[in-house]
Amino acid sequence: MIEYTDARARVLAAAKGLPAGSVPLPQSLGRTLARDIKAAENIPPFTKATMDGYAVRAADTRSSGTAGAGAVELDVLEDLPAGRLSRKTVGPGQAVRIMTGAPLPAGADAVVMVEDTGKAGRRVTVRREVGPGDNIGLAGEDLKKGEIALGRGALIGPAEIGMLAAAGRHRVPVTRRPRLAVIATGDEIVEPGERKRRGQIRNANGPALTALALAAGAEAVYLGIARDKNSSLAAKLAKASGADILVLSGGVSVGDYDLVKAELEAAGVEPVFWQVRIKPGKPVFFGVRGRQLVFGLPGNPTSAMVTFHLFVRPAIDRLLGCAVPGPEPATAILGETVVLKPGRTQFLRGRFVGRGPILTVVPYEDQRSGVLRSMVRGRVLIVVPADAARIEAGREVEILLMDGL
Ligand code: AMP
Ligand code: MG
Repeated sequence: MIEYTDARARVLAAAKGLPAGSVPLPQSLGRTLARDIKAAENIPPFTKATMDGYAVRAADTRSSGTAGAGAVELDVLEDLPAGRLSRKTVGPGQAVRIMTGAPLPAGADAVVMVEDTGKAGRRVTVRREVGPGDNIGLAGEDLKKGEIALGRGALIGPAEIGMLAAAGRHRVPVTRRPRLAVIATGDEIVEPGERKRRGQIRNANGPALTALALAAGAEAVYLGIARDKNSSLAAKLAKASGADILVLSGGVSVGDYDLVKAELEAAGVEPVFWQVRIKPGKPVFFGVRGRQLVFGLPGNPTSAMVTFHLFVRPAIDRLLGCAVPGPEPATAILGETVVLKPGRTQFLRGRFVGRGPILTVVPYEDQRSGVLRSMVRGRVLIVVPADAARIEAGREVEILLMDGL
């Protein structure tokens, strides 16, 4: 039996990055960048007005008061809408009427908001003093030409799409999605929608693990249920040979019908570890077949899902090239005292309580691994060290975010 950190390290060591392709910008949502993206030009490309008003020399507005007295008058050279360049230079005593987004004309170093002015023919009265740089956006203030806009391995969300668009990218280099196959095992398992006899239960893991894989950015295929017979398992395993990651649930414990390990080894999977000093999920198996990563997760739905977060997710992240494989760690304050049996690192399903400013977590009241409710309510895993028998409310605890913050 090995420790959690050791097991995780072995998974990460076995997981190698996948090759890159490229997709049109709109389709890059949810993918990971295959390489650094640098700004091909300054963003914004020119210094511009960030307010509607008048482009001026800030020094010309200095004698203006705030309430009308001492206001200054300037000559208006022209009107400048967004999208047009001015050919004029703003000299002393001069201004250009300018709209938000228009390039600042030469000579000007600030914009007076239209609300602080009054117009009279070709002249404008400025009622409020501005300083150099007021109400303008500098060329390259978001990103300088050549600067890294987004790093390799970044997950592309809506903000990243906006940044890529601003940088003029219409195709995006992304890492291929890992192909992940899911097999549920068990003689007692019946698919939802199929007829169930006495003594049988519904297949929770097949759908849940497939969904976890999709949510983690993999291309997931569900291969159905293998029965607790070598021939049935072998047939399903044969179908999974093209997958980068194979995830099985059930049949990895020490029961008489727990055939998964032996069958995986017969199919050429080299074991890396079996059994980790964790709760839930102790019987978890991990092995490799060539470049394929093979996980045998325990059958209890909660154990299966927790071990997916602990081991399969980091593997997917590594294949996708993420710099820091998940699930993301954080610290929080424990909202209530927990009492446990020491011996294994525990991952309590918990949720946030309160609205901050300090993150507070409480464990779900029923932590038995057969209880799926704790996963439905749980947003975080509260990490309890193997030697802890009791942690007082108010203490800081390490957590792993199953859903992000
Ligand atoms: P196993 O790991 O095969 O010994 O299964 C442990 C427990 O999880 C047993 O109570 C199984 O009936 C249950 N179980 C196994 N596979 C599934 C599944 N796909 N969905 C729901 N429960 C399962
Ligand atoms: Mg079983």
